Amino acid sequence: ADISERHKISREDFVVGRILGEGFFGEVHDGVYKSPTGERIRVAIKTCKDCSADVKEKFLSEADLMKNLDHPHIVCLIGVIEADPVWIVMELYEHGELGNYLIENQYSLSTATLVLYCLQICKALAYLEGLNMVHRDIAVRNVLVASPECVKLGDFGLSRYVDEQEYYKASVSRLPIKWMAPESINFRRFTTASDVWMFGVCVWEIFSMAQQPFFWLENGQVITQLETGVRLHKPQLCPPIVYSLLTRCWAYEPSGRPSFGELACSLSDIHRMEVELEKD
Ligand code: ATP
Repeated sequence: ADISERHKISREDFVVGRILGEGFFGEVHDGVYKSPTGERIRVAIKTCKDCSADVKEKFLSEADLMKNLDHPHIVCLIGVIEADPVWIVMELYEHGELGNYLIENQYSLSTATLVLYCLQICKALAYLEGLNMVHRDIAVRNVLVASPECVKLGDFGLSRYVDEQEYYKASVSRLPIKWMAPESINFRRFTTASDVWMFGVCVWEIFSMAQQPFFWLENGQVITQLETGVRLHKPQLCPPIVYSLLTRCWAYEPSGRPSFGELACSLSDIHRMEVELEKD
């Protein structure tokens, strides 16, 4: 179906439930959507609290980008209601944020499963790379768990098409310094190569069971450390072969970093190996 048709929804088709959490713009509720085909789908409904015209535009820009995305490991947009109160409706992922999920299940998650999550996020990013889109906020807090075997990359609030030169000045104070590549910290330069750096930090979070990267440093100290060559250490649970990929993602020069396509191939091989190992 036509993309604009696919996302046409009406408020009467929803039952709004409890509050799932607080988003940047307002509360996020769970709910049930009755689709035109009669199917009942559990959804997450993002609302916008103080929605003046320019706030509304920023709020809806995330949904605008998501309308064009269709990937098994990217959060699925169901639709938007533009009349007040404005809603962005997404598929619900009941297990919530990957960060919390890792903490709650830290003693039962196998290495193969952790590699699987990394592979799925990497495939989502390879897909974005093909669309010339940079995500700019890759972290376990922005990945949702659909099932124990399936994660979805979300939070396109900072995403941009790379040929767009302007950057999001209003959000400078919200920039995730400890996840950022040196050229992003120094010059606010965001490219697929800086997404690769951030992906490396996200993999580090996954194998650290959601510890904060550089929690021992202040934001202001991070860049000096990176420039003297300091990098995040290998988490205990991280296989050395995965860590050697991370060190390549953290090459100081953007051109020295692997592509998401290459990373996906390596992670796919490593995942197969880990599954074999767990059989023994
Ligand atoms: P921030 O930028 O501060 O992260 P946000 O506006 O991007 O906020 P989210 O983090 O996406 O908002 O959402 C707020 C809360 O709602 C989060 O705790 C998240 O777990 C939950 N949530 C959002 N979308 C979904 C979803 N599709 N399924 C399940 N939970 C969701």
